[in-house]
Amino acid sequence: MINLPNGEFLDLKINELMIPSERVAHVQIGNNLEHALLVLTKSGYTAIPVLDPHYKLHGLISTPIIMDSILGLERIEFEQLEQKHVEEVMKKTIPRVKTTASIDVCLELLINQPFLCVETDDEVFAGILPRSTVLERIDKIVKRFKQIQQ
Ligand code: AMP
Repeated sequence: MINLPNGEFLDLKINELMIPSERVAHVQIGNNLEHALLVLTKSGYTAIPVLDPHYKLHGLISTPIIMDSILGLERIEFEQLEQKHVEEVMKKTIPRVKTTASIDVCLELLINQPFLCVETDDEVFAGILPRSTVLERIDKIVKRFKQIQQ
């Protein structure tokens, strides 16, 4: 077992680890599924946040959700991409944390999520906390601690 330096990881702040909102690919309420699929495909991400013009977070939209929503009985109904809007099909119950949340709360949520949406106390979307960023930081701390022990 590896003992981490006392408190070092738990002292980390979400603000220091998250990808800020201006660098997060997203779609807006009112966008149709064709636009959402375009953003998802161009960005290479499987799921992205759905925001309103005031940067309030409403849900997540993903390629599997979109494909499932246009699946007909005998064929994929691509013409529906233009007619349907993200708010009709997006996932509304999503993992979200406040910028002030402690990192151990995030760790527990990240066991089952590739990323968490981060909001300010006023419920404005602040960014996302990807699991990979947190793991990268833990990896660095573990390696540094192993060096100190040698
Ligand atoms: P990663 O760990 O970097 O592969 O990210 C995991 C997931 O977080 C991705 O599949 C996306 O759904 C989401 N994600 C990461 N970075 C961004 C970003 N800049 N904009 C939107 N979504 C992102």
